[in-house]
Amino acid sequence: MNSAKQYVLPTIVVLLALATAVFWYLRPDICQRGITYTVGRIDAGFNLTEPELRAALDDAGDVWEEVLGYDVFRFDPDGDLDVFLIFDERQEQTQIEQQERANLTQQEGKVDSDTEEINKLEEQIRSVERQYESLVRTYDTEKSTYDALIARGATTQEIKTQEVKLNSLVPDLNEKQDELNILISRFNTKITSTQGLVDSYNQSADNYNNEFTGTRVFDQGEHTPGRITIYQYDNYDDLVLVLAHEMGHALGIGHVDSDTSVMHAQLENQDIKNIMLSLDDQSALGRVCTF
Ligand SMILES: [Zn+2]
Repeated sequence: MNSAKQYVLPTIVVLLALATAVFWYLRPDICQRGITYTVGRIDAGFNLTEPELRAALDDAGDVWEEVLGYDVFRFDPDGDLDVFLIFDERQEQTQIEQQERANLTQQEGKVDSDTEEINKLEEQIRSVERQYESLVRTYDTEKSTYDALIARGATTQEIKTQEVKLNSLVPDLNEKQDELNILISRFNTKITSTQGLVDSYNQSADNYNNEFTGTRVFDQGEHTPGRITIYQYDNYDDLVLVLAHEMGHALGIGHVDSDTSVMHAQLENQDIKNIMLSLDDQSALGRVCTF
């Protein structure tokens, strides 16, 4: 009994010593120990090269390191954290959407340039119309003079002279009328073709809206121990945001409430052009890392 009792004491001491050692081992926090990462796999569907992904990872790491003031995330071919880009229907849908949006923008541009052309034609028509009306007024005046000459029984010579004058106006008048008709015909053709474009644009826009708007919630990425998997992003900045979010999880940070935070559960209202840790992000970071 005695010996047994004596045996207990050193054990406790040893355990305490171990606990202290573990405590001191953990003392340099995860940020100070740093996290090494490497590229696991990039599926071809993303059209992203490894250097591009590494640049995005570097930028995503900076989001955290700017606040910490020191490097935490380091690339290492044998790194602890593998980053995978796995292509499935999420990114496929994104690419289809982007393609359709590009088509719509192109159609919109064509409608705009056509509308500009229609406006120019209209201006031209107005101007030629004014010239034509002025020629008609001159013709009408000379025609009245001609009619008056006949009415008052003027000499044949006088009537003949006025008739020649009147007839000399006709070619210009006809030419102007032809010019006007050609412009009006071009104008009408353009209106019809543009209307066709507008109809097809509206049809495409309807399809786009039916297909792509509304809430689509899908996980863009996830962090599991030793691995970050990215499934979807819209563009480079969006990729950096998703990576920064998952790297936050790799640091042991959970989700925060404010919706502009990097660590908010949904990546929707963050400013992706200027990704910065919010105060919520920073205090979450402060709970796992010293800075
Ligand atoms: Zn998350």
